[in-house]
Amino acid sequence: MPVSEELISKVAEEVGQLLKELSDSAGPSGMEEEVRDIIAREVKDYVDRLEVDALGNLIGIKRGTEGGPKIMIASHMDEVGLIITYIGKDGFLKFTKVGGVSERYLNAQRVVIKTRKGKVLGVIGSKPVHLLKPEEAQKVSPLEELFIDVGASSEEEVKKMGIRVGDRAVLDREFKRMNGYVVTGKALDDRVGCAVLIETLKLLSEKDHNATVYAVATSQEEVGLRGARVAAFRIKPDLGIAVDVTIANDVAGVSESDRVTRLGKGPAIKVMDSGLLVSPRVQEYIIEVAEREGIPYQLEVISKGSTDAAAIQLTREGIVTGAVSIPTRYLHSPVETLNLKDAAYASILLSKLIERANKKDLEKLKGDILKG
Ligand code: ZN
Repeated sequence: MPVSEELISKVAEEVGQLLKELSDSAGPSGMEEEVRDIIAREVKDYVDRLEVDALGNLIGIKRGTEGGPKIMIASHMDEVGLIITYIGKDGFLKFTKVGGVSERYLNAQRVVIKTRKGKVLGVIGSKPVHLLKPEEAQKVSPLEELFIDVGASSEEEVKKMGIRVGDRAVLDREFKRMNGYVVTGKALDDRVGCAVLIETLKLLSEKDHNATVYAVATSQEEVGLRGARVAAFRIKPDLGIAVDVTIANDVAGVSESDRVTRLGKGPAIKVMDSGLLVSPRVQEYIIEVAEREGIPYQLEVISKGSTDAAAIQLTREGIVTGAVSIPTRYLHSPVETLNLKDAAYASILLSKLIERANKKDLEKLKGDILKG
């Protein structure tokens, strides 16, 4: 039976509200505390235990019934950002990237710098267009030619504002709703996964389940899946699932066959990315839940990019791992765009999967004993 329109709309609205606060907060890799505080506040009533580990991962544990399996759900808190490398005599800041943000999206953007004295607003400037040679004007400004202007006129003034080398910055762009359930903002990668994590726990709060849930809001995904790696080692789950965004190329000028996923057609069940091949057993297990529950889904095959699932799968002697993705346009740009209903369906899919999971079924997803 399909999921009721009423439930989908309710969950989608809740995701929208959470996403507004999560997207508007600043969480560059390794400095996820602002995002972590929001998630901690939202999940604390739905978990039995809540802790933060040495890498800054937030781990919420919701216990299941005796003898149940362990399921880890991971969504990363960090977003692509910048780090200050040099403060010039004239008050302009040089910077480099933290994570895969493209130069194409940097020039002429507002940024928020996280300093020890609080947030400072800046703009990314470059050589004025009318001073460029014609061939220069055609090109994307390379990183070396960009700088951050915080409105200061000297190094001393910059330092007085609390800015130091090593401070991190993120793009400044307010989250907005567009048409219907379509929304836009920065860092929807992967704040939408964080919102799905929260909603999944909420949906589970009224249910009994055998599995113990480890809801992990991970740190430092954008710089190499670092938080998820240590969290998975510690938890040693029977099943790990990463919730992240994936490429939706369903835009003008892209052929049907290159679109990967589409907005509003349901969450994507991952088959492959550059760091992960989901075992056919796991893929089938997730698909079965979606089909049984009448949840629309898409299949995702991409050759570039990866998620926390890749790190979880290669932990210890290997962990049974899958991934559920939210189709998103313009990834790592200040105008990432997605459909809240896809996130709502993802939350329902995960809660249904957890509700039905038992040790026996999950054991079947692992290897086989052929003799002895
Ligand atoms: Zn991501």
